[in-house]
Amino acid sequence: MNISHSTLSRRDFMKGLGLAGAGLGAVAASAPVFHDVDELTSLGSNVNKYPWYVKERDFKNPTVEIDWDTLERPNANNFKSHPRPSAADFTAAGVVGGNMTDLETPAEALALYDYCEKEFPGWDKGYAGAGDIRSTALDNACKFMMMGQWPAEIYQGGKRINVRNAILAAGGTATFSSFLGPQAATTIRPQDFGAAKWQGTPEENFKTLRNAFRFLGCQDVGCAEIDNDTVKFFHKIKGAGSGFNTGEAGGKQIAFKDIDEAYETADEYAIPNKCKYIITFTARQSFEGTRRQAGITESFSVWYCYARYVKMICHMQEFIRGLGYQCLNMSGLYFSNPLSVITGLGEHGRMSSPAIHPKNGTTNRANGWALLTDLPVAPTNPIDFGAYKFCETCGICADACPFGLIQKGESTWENPAAAKNGLAQGQFKGWRTNNTDCPHCPTCQGTCPFNSTSQSFIHDMVKATTTNLPMFNGFFANMERFMEYGRKPQWEFWDIEQPTYGFDTTA
Ligand code: SF4
Ligand code: SF4
Repeated sequence: MNISHSTLSRRDFMKGLGLAGAGLGAVAASAPVFHDVDELTSLGSNVNKYPWYVKERDFKNPTVEIDWDTLERPNANNFKSHPRPSAADFTAAGVVGGNMTDLETPAEALALYDYCEKEFPGWDKGYAGAGDIRSTALDNACKFMMMGQWPAEIYQGGKRINVRNAILAAGGTATFSSFLGPQAATTIRPQDFGAAKWQGTPEENFKTLRNAFRFLGCQDVGCAEIDNDTVKFFHKIKGAGSGFNTGEAGGKQIAFKDIDEAYETADEYAIPNKCKYIITFTARQSFEGTRRQAGITESFSVWYCYARYVKMICHMQEFIRGLGYQCLNMSGLYFSNPLSVITGLGEHGRMSSPAIHPKNGTTNRANGWALLTDLPVAPTNPIDFGAYKFCETCGICADACPFGLIQKGESTWENPAAAKNGLAQGQFKGWRTNNTDCPHCPTCQGTCPFNSTSQSFIHDMVKATTTNLPMFNGFFANMERFMEYGRKPQWEFWDIEQPTYGFDTTA
């Protein structure tokens, strides 16, 4: 049931707080005062049009405490990954749809079937473990060219052509996305014609990029400069053992250098020091789709996000090149959660990735995707809308994880998953997910109370109150359970009229 301001009664609201029996006098003394619903959404005004209750913080001072001295650039080779079972291993264990699996083991796949069947009695794992035939069909459709992968065999002119193999044979790579961008023949640069580069103030440049990003389909944009601290969010090395399956044994260096032009070799991504402007953007997922992810693999909401936004990165690289500047795609070469937080796209929360966005919670794929450029761009600051504080008493996602991989309890400086993720202790005071053992099942992302549309009266009230009155957080976490927000049965997706892309782009 989707409860909006027109259907939510005061009684329901008080029941959610656990205060229905307390009497209105007692409630009135402690409840927040809102004069008009419109007031909740119309007072905010900043570069990303956040609601009024979103507060700005100082650069490098997000709600999650960071020990900048302890923080160090990670060696991505230290990240552990599971050995991948074969399709035959899954079949032998009784798992259907072996080639639909993502990162789980056969035992985890069976546990996920069990979990979904208990959570949604009547749920059908289908012939491939991803749900009924419609969900499975949309899953597979959305994987087309996902993560920028060239298609393998496709029909062209009545023949099956293996595009991927043809490009590999020509010396290309398996994906159309790349560090340096497409640099297509049609993308001409002003300097190649003796014309001046685009010249704008950093503020103009931010607005220029934001409008281009939005034209292409993203929502919010952030920016920060690389310095001796923020550089630590970029990996030192990418390669064997990193889980990314690229690079030579020993890895590929990610090097910041005093050079004029970026370049890439077999063992190095070379980044000019002048490309010091980090641009981040949100990659939204369908809200109704995200809360209906069920089965053994991330769902069509995830896959289509990966299909859409990787192409968008290429468009942005070409756009910035067309202005006369460099734009480097840092996908897989950085940590998205801290860059989202530092550039004000969200707050660090218990789920740890994605960061929690003030308007759409965790219905983002990694929240902040990062590019580097030498186009000077004005920075955006970290934000505070009470999410970090809310996570201290919420814990819904950690309770929902079928494998107990999300850190429970209070935020800590210790990293309980250090043995798995290779990251040092004491770098930040927050929560970590054991990503090594996480099979990227569809569960946690759809549970967060901050996932909602901004038109929802209750969520603006919750968000505004948690920002200003954190003592209510425990009540609101319970109310979330009472109101049965969060995950919903997969089959209902087909009966709900969806906005384009599954989210309201005006919110
Ligand atoms: S952390 Fe999230 S994606 Fe990973 S296993 Fe737990 S619920 Fe699934
Ligand atoms: S579900 Fe609760 S604890 Fe988890 S990230 Fe969302 S608000 Fe935080």
